[in-house]
Amino acid sequence: MENAYSPGVPRIKHAIVTARVRVYIGDMVKHAFSHVSHWVFDLDNTLYPPHARLFDQIEVRMTRFVMEALNVTRPEADRLRKVYWAEYGTTLAGLMRVHGVDPAPYLTEVHDISLDHLDRDTELAAHFADLPGRRIVYTNGSAPYAERVLEARGLAGLFDAVYGVEHAGFRPKPERAAFEAVFARDGVEPARAAMFEDDPRNLTAPHAMGMRTVHVAPDPHEADHIHHHTDDLTAFLSRLV
Ligand SMILES: [Mg+2]
Repeated sequence: MENAYSPGVPRIKHAIVTARVRVYIGDMVKHAFSHVSHWVFDLDNTLYPPHARLFDQIEVRMTRFVMEALNVTRPEADRLRKVYWAEYGTTLAGLMRVHGVDPAPYLTEVHDISLDHLDRDTELAAHFADLPGRRIVYTNGSAPYAERVLEARGLAGLFDAVYGVEHAGFRPKPERAAFEAVFARDGVEPARAAMFEDDPRNLTAPHAMGMRTVHVAPDPHEADHIHHHTDDLTAFLSRLV
């Protein structure tokens, strides 16, 4: 005779197994970071969600800057920006290498954007505070811009240092020399450090240097140089301590 409860038993077993697997995976993640005492975070689209779309505002200003600096049309400025992003890592790097543009006015101009719609994130702030060791931000933007974003997100004061492209001699990530410059300055020992980034390209050098790499983005990107992926930085950090 059919037991009225039997259909539920496999479901309960499945739920228990799923919960155990989650705990096991959680322990594995924690273990993978047990040697880490230096935490390096990218800023844009890593410490705030991509739907905040700050880059939409920055890109408009980058294009306008290129149009004015090089006296070119909007389509040509957009084309050049794509070329420079692909060849040199950023629009600024291309402007400097190819046209000898002064980086300071560029950085001020393109980052002069509204942050009014950014939300403070108290839960994320609490998890940063729990991370053992030194915590730094390293962005291809400028450090003053990063400080403004951290303030708007309620994350100011949680990091030991904030580095921008100006601290890497204006060389951008993904160049290994850029990472090396910032890491030397801060005393990052790659073998005891982890890098969190939304752009998979910017995890290549950190991985090659021996860091733990975490891709923070809505969609995973399969690559040998990416150890972990998360679409929720708060949830990921909560599993580490
Ligand atoms: Mg980013």
